[in-house]
Amino acid sequence: MKLTKRALLALAGATLALAPHFAAAEGKGSVGIAMPTKSSSRWISDGNSMVEQFQAAGYTTDLQYAEDDIPTQLSQVENMISKGVNVLVIAAIDGTTLSNALENAQAAGIKVIAYDRLIRDSGAVDYYATFDNFKVGVQQAESLVQCLKERFPEAKPWNVELFGGSPDDNNAFFFYDGAMSVLQPMIDAGEIAIPSGQVGMDVVGTLRWDGAVAQSRMDNLLAANYGDKPLMGALSPYDGLSIGILSSVKGVGYGSGDMVMPCVTGQDAEIPSVKSMLAGEQYSTVFKDTRALAGVTVKMVDAILQGGEPEINDTSTYDNGVKVVPSYLLEPVSLGVGDIDKVLVESGYYTADQIK
Ligand code: BGC
Repeated sequence: MKLTKRALLALAGATLALAPHFAAAEGKGSVGIAMPTKSSSRWISDGNSMVEQFQAAGYTTDLQYAEDDIPTQLSQVENMISKGVNVLVIAAIDGTTLSNALENAQAAGIKVIAYDRLIRDSGAVDYYATFDNFKVGVQQAESLVQCLKERFPEAKPWNVELFGGSPDDNNAFFFYDGAMSVLQPMIDAGEIAIPSGQVGMDVVGTLRWDGAVAQSRMDNLLAANYGDKPLMGALSPYDGLSIGILSSVKGVGYGSGDMVMPCVTGQDAEIPSVKSMLAGEQYSTVFKDTRALAGVTVKMVDAILQGGEPEINDTSTYDNGVKVVPSYLLEPVSLGVGDIDKVLVESGYYTADQIK
């Protein structure tokens, strides 16, 4: 077919008219997403939900996991900066080790969002999307106490041990402080005893949230302090630690014969813990809907890149050592065995088969 000059001009005009439209639909920008590890399924859900929702909103994504290795995460972030992403969304492994890289990001005009975990010691963090982390700790302690009342109605004081999260994760302190706001008055009143005497994040913290470390600490605590008395509860801030703690207590006979299973809390509603709850072992978890956190983050990024103001609901809690980072906090949900179907299955977070 031979096109007339006029037809060719019309075609060129149409192509030009379409070009900005394509640019808007396909190329709203690129987002570098740095997640800590695939060893915990919650971060896999976070990453998948973000990729899905960012792409649906017209962004390209670069999703990286660092297997809890700090230098790996640092080089992933540096790579994203040199590739020229528009925004970085980072769930830091160690919240204090990214300062230099983020200064470079800032200098290059790249916006930075701290995802779930606050990035500390950096003025280059623009926003923080997370859950109410203090409340997570309160919910864990409240469910611990509820379980102690149910499983050990006659006993006082209740013998409990405390576990904290990773000391390089700012969240760990919020979880611990939230929990202690409930437990400390009960310890002071003699209702709860800590037979090991180990109290405070400097002694109860669990580096890298490692379940094996929690398991061997529980082994040692049992051997050293529980020859003549039963353990009744363990405050656990994360499901991966809870599974380690439960393995330890089951290993010395708890949960069989006349040895009542101690009350163990958790967080993240991970599948092994949901199964453990259904089996009557782990008592509770705290569900934080990663789909909703991804949604908040996508909206934040979209607002920033389209020249608007992202929605925030907290401007006072999260001081990272350099600035108070404007934040959006979602509500955590305390979950007992009776809530699993409604909250996890009916909402489509898991299928019924996944938790069988
Ligand atoms: C998250 C928790 C998670 C923990 C271990 C924390 O920063 O807020 O949801 O259980 O890291 O991965």
